[in-house]
Amino acid sequence: MIIKMKDPINSSHVHAVLAAISTQKMDAQTVSLPFGDFIIGSAHFECDSRVIKKLPGVEWLIDAPKGPVLAALERNPDGSTVPLGMIDVGGETLAIIAGPCSVEDKRQLMTAARFVAAYGATALRGGAFKPRSSPYSFQGLGLEGLALLQEAGRGTHLPVVTEAMEPKDVETILPYVDCLQVGARSMQNFPLLRAVGQAGKPVLLKRGPASSLSELVLAAEYILLQGNSNVILCERGIRTFENSTRNTLDLNAVPVLKSITHLPVIVDPSHGTGRRDAVIPMARAAVAAGADGLIVEVHPNPDMALSDGDQSLTPAQFRQLVNEVKLVAEAVGRKIDMPSSTPLGVPTAGSQRRTFGWGRVG
Ligand code: PEP
Ligand code: MN
Repeated sequence: MIIKMKDPINSSHVHAVLAAISTQKMDAQTVSLPFGDFIIGSAHFECDSRVIKKLPGVEWLIDAPKGPVLAALERNPDGSTVPLGMIDVGGETLAIIAGPCSVEDKRQLMTAARFVAAYGATALRGGAFKPRSSPYSFQGLGLEGLALLQEAGRGTHLPVVTEAMEPKDVETILPYVDCLQVGARSMQNFPLLRAVGQAGKPVLLKRGPASSLSELVLAAEYILLQGNSNVILCERGIRTFENSTRNTLDLNAVPVLKSITHLPVIVDPSHGTGRRDAVIPMARAAVAAGADGLIVEVHPNPDMALSDGDQSLTPAQFRQLVNEVKLVAEAVGRKIDMPSSTPLGVPTAGSQRRTFGWGRVG
């Protein structure tokens, strides 16, 4: 059961509702979000909601929700924004989250971070705890990787995004980063969703490789139910019969998610294609479709990457991506924040020719 309390919230009304709920042998929790205060009661088939509905301060009540309530578009039809460093994801400026798939060593991360910062990234990505299909593949540097990410983020003034794989890791990761990623394989790890919901920092929630869009929004609902509405959804490709790409990037997700949820939606053309030559075209397409941003893998030397080298862009290709996406962004009423200067001796994106290169990425 979910109960919306009238604004402004009145504590005696809340107490009366909680008391009425406890007489019905339900557990209850209160949730305060930017778009309202709610009381959530555990489902109970003997519950008589008619009594609760009539209590003062109750605006509306849904006995047994059939779908998302807190993440539903109706809660905030104008769309929500999520603060991430200098930008609000979901606002006019696109989020460009870039960096290596995995943190490998200091030199690799610092080089990638400096380039992406200079060329227009708004956040730095990098995995320290890696979900790998094979247990024999590089699993990430763990704590050492987190410390490097923090150093790289501070050095480039970029907020840092990294993946948490287990609920117990959330507390460890939290002090080092600005946004917690829930990876595609973990989208329905419900204890992890609750843990990141309680962490109090923005969450980047990736769509499961075999999950429907409504399942993605319901996964987000778990996070919102913990009182954290700073959730960014991410389309990263789904499993299909097509095998010329690693996944099939489902750009339908962008308009469809925007028709059912107020949460911002970004796109990952790196995992969505698995092919370096397809990343820039699909990044352009994602922004044309209305995505609120991109998350892209960039490596100083992709052929030497310990994970996802085939889909990682070189720094020069990332610069090309930003320059091309900027033109698409402007055509659809969005913008990209280009750094005007860099203290790091890397040429800025603005200093490059800004035209489309529709051919193969060199
Ligand atoms: C990643 O971002 O490196 C990653 C593992 O992504 P996904 O969970 O989408 O596979
Ligand atoms: Mn990756």
